[in-house]
Amino acid sequence: MRPLIAGNWKMHGTSAALGQIAAIARSVAEEAPACDVLVCPPFTLIARAAAVAGAGVAVGAQDCHREPEGAFTGDISAEMLRDAGATTVIVGHSERRRYHGETEIDVAMKTSAAWRAGLSAILCIGETEAERDAGQAAEVVARQLDGSLPLGANPATTAIAYEPVWAIGTGRTPGDADVAEMHALIRKRLTDRLGEDAAGLRILYGGSVKPANAASILRLPNVNGALVGGASLEAEEFLSIIRAIPQGA
Ligand code: PEP
Repeated sequence: MRPLIAGNWKMHGTSAALGQIAAIARSVAEEAPACDVLVCPPFTLIARAAAVAGAGVAVGAQDCHREPEGAFTGDISAEMLRDAGATTVIVGHSERRRYHGETEIDVAMKTSAAWRAGLSAILCIGETEAERDAGQAAEVVARQLDGSLPLGANPATTAIAYEPVWAIGTGRTPGDADVAEMHALIRKRLTDRLGEDAAGLRILYGGSVKPANAASILRLPNVNGALVGGASLEAEEFLSIIRAIPQGA
């Protein structure tokens, strides 16, 4: 399965940052990496990012509203994202769950909205540190997956990002065995729900992926790419992660 390296810029970046996307696009065009590449800047940059990203870099968003349009001041629909040039939207990121109180049902509706608009969704799930310490990580991840993934997922429209909340932006990562165990659990759960389609659905790891640890994380079984926060903001750092995918992977 072709891996996906996706960058989540969060609330970083003004017009000056478009040069980073152009630099990523140039290198991707030259090097033809063995993975798909996606950059998710803030809403305000999506249209301009899509214009400079070229064919080799897809542009995505970090959230969408569940409805196509309506009286929802300040919100952006999946249809609007598509119109602006996005191909993908991240849903259920732990920062959305935490700071905006998004529930499983909210995330499921946003995922359905993405599909309705013709976008693919990257659905984020992951346990907090307290949940891991209490031995509840597997249970929490299974519950989030069951609750926030609507019926009808397939490999073209959906990727799952396993992002342990305690690893996001902290420089800490789970051990290889823990990542592999959680990704295997997610694959099994997807197989129970989707049957053979589950084998082709990408499961990304996210949480402090850096150039120094990317190669070892990306070769773990059932790790089909990465969702990268801080290290996606600088083109050269992000490109180093992209280059960690071996050619022919
Ligand atoms: C993220 O926010 O999705 C993320 C993985 O962040 P970081 O890489 O900075 O930990």
